[in-house]
Amino acid sequence: MDNYPGLPGMNGYDMGMKFKEHADGLGADFMQAEVQEIEMEENEKVIKTSNGDFKTKSIIIATGARHRKLGVPGEEEHVGLGVSYCATCDGAFFRDKTVVVVGGGDVAVEDAIFLGRICKKVYLVHRRDELRAAKSLQEKLFEMENVECIWDTTVTNINGEQQVESVTTRNLKDEKEADLKVDGIFIAVGILPNTEMFKDNLKMDEGRYIVAEEDGKTNIPGVFAAGDVRTKMLRQIVTAASDGANAVTSAQEYLIYQ
Ligand SMILES: Cc1cc2nc3c(=O)[nH]c(=O)nc-3n(C[C@H](O)[C@H](O)[C@H](O)COP(=O)(O)OP(=O)(O)OC[C@H]3O[C@@H](n4cnc5c(N)ncnc54)[C@H](O)[C@@H]3O)c2cc1C
Repeated sequence: MDNYPGLPGMNGYDMGMKFKEHADGLGADFMQAEVQEIEMEENEKVIKTSNGDFKTKSIIIATGARHRKLGVPGEEEHVGLGVSYCATCDGAFFRDKTVVVVGGGDVAVEDAIFLGRICKKVYLVHRRDELRAAKSLQEKLFEMENVECIWDTTVTNINGEQQVESVTTRNLKDEKEADLKVDGIFIAVGILPNTEMFKDNLKMDEGRYIVAEEDGKTNIPGVFAAGDVRTKMLRQIVTAASDGANAVTSAQEYLIYQ
């Protein structure tokens, strides 16, 4: 984690433990359990978990989001060893190197532009012959001399002894396979918020994020959303932490004035 202010070089696990110790010291109670269902009545919420049921007046949902995987051989083994799902988080590790971005939407094109500014060469592999991204982004992308688009193509394998060394691509029109020598692969084929269990209660946008502004308020009084799970511009640790502070303030206000 190189982009959280004041803590350069901290790894994600250590940062999580530091956050926990801090909250522990302030008297927070922790419990490990899987939340399986939540009943959201206006005055009482019932949280059903693998470790018993809990009744509360207010809830802050912070279940996060997961990156959609490519699901190809070599992907799982190389996460953190050249496979990344976040160009703004990991791009700096690939300065002056060669990388491939997979995807064709706004995020993939934004990633390719971002990486094009720091990497020696960027390939953008897309399974169709045109991008879905906004035209303005496409124009910027096509101006970049070190970015090359590879159309009608998918990545079928990620290869490398330890670090990523190459990816195997397959052209969907002529079925020809090729080996692309790269130092890293950025997968930008979508994000899935962990909101399945709230779909019958909470208002969500077309990407299945819980609709909530900066105050974390959802369509149900007393239910707040914070972090990657809510509608927002930038999904990072620093914005998740600030969402947490805002949502707690909203929950306190709700408990006082309801
Ligand atoms: C590989 C990777 C690298 C990243 N690198 C960076 C980086 O360098 N810098 C940066 O700022 N951001 C980075 N991010 C993004 C960052 O991790 C997120 O923005 C941030 O963690 C969001 O915090 P959150 O609390 O909303 O969700 P999360 O951190 O995802 O936490 C959600 C938690 O909810 C739990 N949960 C979900 N469903 C249930 C359930 N039903 N019951 C119980 N618990 C549940 C999950 O197990 C998880 O612990 C990275 C993300 C990934 C995947």
